[in-house]
Amino acid sequence: MLALVKYQKGEGNVELRQVEEPRCLAGQVKIEIAFCGVCGTDLHVMHDTFRNFPPVTLGHEFSGTIVESGTGVDRMRAGDQVAVLPASAVHCGKCSYCRMGKFIFCPSRRGMGHGVNGGFTNYVVVREDQCYHIPDGWTLEEASLCEPFSAAVQAVSELTSLRLGDIALVSGPGPIGLMCLKLLVAAGIKTLVAGPIEDTARLDAAKRIGAAGIVNVSDPNWMEQVRDYTQGELVDVAFECAGHPASVNNCLEAVRPLGRYTQVGICGQKVNIQLDAVFYKMLEVRGSVCYSEQTWHRMMRILNQGSVRLADLITTRLPLTDWKKGFDLCMDKQAVKVLITPQPQV
Ligand SMILES: [Zn+2]
Ligand SMILES: [Zn+2]
Repeated sequence: MLALVKYQKGEGNVELRQVEEPRCLAGQVKIEIAFCGVCGTDLHVMHDTFRNFPPVTLGHEFSGTIVESGTGVDRMRAGDQVAVLPASAVHCGKCSYCRMGKFIFCPSRRGMGHGVNGGFTNYVVVREDQCYHIPDGWTLEEASLCEPFSAAVQAVSELTSLRLGDIALVSGPGPIGLMCLKLLVAAGIKTLVAGPIEDTARLDAAKRIGAAGIVNVSDPNWMEQVRDYTQGELVDVAFECAGHPASVNNCLEAVRPLGRYTQVGICGQKVNIQLDAVFYKMLEVRGSVCYSEQTWHRMMRILNQGSVRLADLITTRLPLTDWKKGFDLCMDKQAVKVLITPQPQV
């Protein structure tokens, strides 16, 4: 089968290759991939700015149909449509973090798409416990967005305290930022979305989703916009979703004294910040990386209750052979979510 493989460490070194179809072992299921989303992490793996273990098939945001199950599998069967929790593919299950359900901090952890083979191909095998039945009324296409959505669920619904009447700021209108926005809107929180003027398409999407205001940070007086939207009080909580140094500093500036700041984006570089803002404003600052199994459980409840839909975030669908085009669209911020499918026709 064809797979998009990082075949060697270093910048680039990604290409389509013929690889062996994986065999389904005990406790595992074999999944025929329907769709796999392109994520910033895939770009980082390509550029070697995210840890990776070549040769490895890229892609971790996927959905598909179970075609085979190994011995001992009893919850999932052939024909089931599933979304997959990819980040826990390899973890020891014994360290203190694994035992508290925080596999993300396990020293031996390897996720799919960088540590073990991922979803830009026809078939994968995963443990049964990594599979989640897709919500009723959802297509496999929409369900491929479960994985990035769970990162937004952890940041907004699990880690950041929010009360009705708060005003939130989402800085960075990429897929994760827009997913945070959807959760905030669903929770009834007035939310501003900040981005540079050239990010028009994605800021327009933010408006459609229900942003109470768009803050154009290319305007040197952007803080005036924040004051206008908040009657001079500044925002109660900021979600930094761009992973950009300027955005980090904007969030620290836009948040009010005693406010909350949650880091959702990966900066991938050293960032100069005015730490005194945290001191003088007595801010609550925290990070939100990935998600836990608990998050997936909560996410599935949110989706099954029908409070959030994600299909409108999908802007592009491409066959696997056009993967480069999809990666370029993400790099140039010309798309919200790009899906790749191994099927020749889209
Ligand atoms: Zn991702
Ligand atoms: Zn562990």
